[in-house]
Amino acid sequence: MDFTLTELESDLLDLGRSYAEREIAAVAPRAWHEERCPVELLRGLGQLGLLGTLVPEKWGGTGSSTVGFVALLESLAAVDPSVAAAWQAHSTIGSLPLLLFGSDEQRERWLRPLAQGTKLGAFGLTEPGAGSDVRSLQTRARRVSDGWVLNGQKAFISNAGTDMSFGVTVLARTGQDADGRPRFGSFIVEHGTRGYTQGPKLRGIGWKGLDTRDLFFDNVWVPDSQVVGEPGGGLAQFLGSLEVGRISIAALSVGTATGAMRMALDYARQREQFGAKISSFQAIQFKLADMATEIEAARWLTYRAAAQRDAGQPFRKEAAMAKLKASQVATAVVSEAVQVFGGAGYMLDSDVARFYCDAKVLEIGEGTNEIQRLVIARELGC
Ligand SMILES: Cc1cc2nc3c(=O)[nH]c(=O)nc-3n(C[C@H](O)[C@H](O)[C@H](O)COP(=O)(O)OP(=O)(O)OC[C@H]3O[C@@H](n4cnc5c(N)ncnc54)[C@H](O)[C@@H]3O)c2cc1C
Repeated sequence: MDFTLTELESDLLDLGRSYAEREIAAVAPRAWHEERCPVELLRGLGQLGLLGTLVPEKWGGTGSSTVGFVALLESLAAVDPSVAAAWQAHSTIGSLPLLLFGSDEQRERWLRPLAQGTKLGAFGLTEPGAGSDVRSLQTRARRVSDGWVLNGQKAFISNAGTDMSFGVTVLARTGQDADGRPRFGSFIVEHGTRGYTQGPKLRGIGWKGLDTRDLFFDNVWVPDSQVVGEPGGGLAQFLGSLEVGRISIAALSVGTATGAMRMALDYARQREQFGAKISSFQAIQFKLADMATEIEAARWLTYRAAAQRDAGQPFRKEAAMAKLKASQVATAVVSEAVQVFGGAGYMLDSDVARFYCDAKVLEIGEGTNEIQRLVIARELGC
C-alpha cells in the first residue's frame, strides 16, 4: 500500500491546514453556536483551489488521489467537523456523479464551477420514507415530450440550501423494468428552478455549521440535457458515489477523533489536581494511549480503502470497514476526551463539547453502521 503524497498533494495539504488553523478556527466555532453555515469559509477554500480535489484538472479541479483527499479532509476535520462535512459532501457525493457519469456538456456546465469553487454541490437520495432502504424511494420522474417532470420530497440533504449552492443532483423513480423492478434516474435540478423549494435549515445535535434541509419537488420540469447517465442507471451511480463517500466519512471520523484527542492531551498537560498535572495520572495516560492507538487503527483502514481505490481495485468492503470502525472510534474518543476535561468539557462553550456533538452523526450518515455491517457481511459471502 502506497500512502505517499505527490508534491502537489502535499502543497494542497499545507494550504488547507494553514487555512483551517488561521481562518476556519477563527470563524467556525461561532457559526456552529449560531447554527449558521459559514459559506464564506467554503468560498475561501474554493479560492484556494481546494473544492475540486478529486476532479481532474481538465474539469477545473486539482486531480488529487483519494489518499491525498483523505489527508486533507482529516486535517480540516481536526479543526472543525462541520466545515469539513460540508467540504467532503461537496467533494464526493456532490461532485462525483457528474464527474463519473455526466456528459462532457454537463461537466462543463455544472462540474467546472463546483471544482473551481464558485458553487457548492449536493446529492439528494434520502426521503422521509426511504433512508437505508433506498429502493423504496417515492420521488417520481415522469417522461414528457420535451424532458422529465419530477414530484416528491427529499430529506436531510446537505449543501443544497446555501447561496453558493448550484442546486442538487437527485435520484427519482423513472418506471420499472420487465420484471417489475423499479428503475431510477439521476436528474440535475438547478437552484431557482420553478417548483423546486427547500425547507428551513434543520437543527441537529451537531454539525450545526452544515446546511441540511428537506427539498420539495412540485411538477419540476427538467430537459433531457439534465439527466445524468442512463435514465435507468441512476441507482448504481448513486451507490457508486456513496462508496467514495464512505471513505470520506471515515476520514472525517479520524480527523474529528484526532482533534478531540489533541484537545484532551493539551488540557491534561496543563490541568492540575492533587498538586500534579492530570497527565501524570496513569488513568488519564491510559485514556490518551487508547485514543491514539484506536485513531491510528482507524486511520490505517481509511488510507487502505483510499489507496485501494487509487489502485483501481474493488474497495466496497474496505470502505465499509473503514467507515464502521472510524466512526465508532470517533464517538468513543470524543466521549473520553470530554471525560479528560471533566466538567469543563461538558460545557457547551468548550471546543471539545462541540466535537462530542459532531461525532454521533458519523455512525448514521452515508449508510448507518448497521448497513455497513450488512455490506461487509455480503462481501464476506453471507
Ligand atoms: C446531518 C445529515 C446529513 C445528511 N446528508 C444527506 C445528503 O446530503 N444526501 C442524502 O441523500 N442523505 C443525507 N442524509 C441522510 C442519511 O444518509 C440517512 O439519515 C441515513 O442513510 C439513514 O437513513 P434514515 O435516517 O432514514 O434511517 P433508517 O433507514 O430509517 O434507519 C433507522 C435505523 O434502522 C436501522 N436499519 C435500517 N434498515 C436496517 C436493516 N436492514 N438491518 C439492520 N438495521 C437497519 C438503521 O441502521 C438505523 O439504526 C443526511 C443525514 C444527516 C443526519
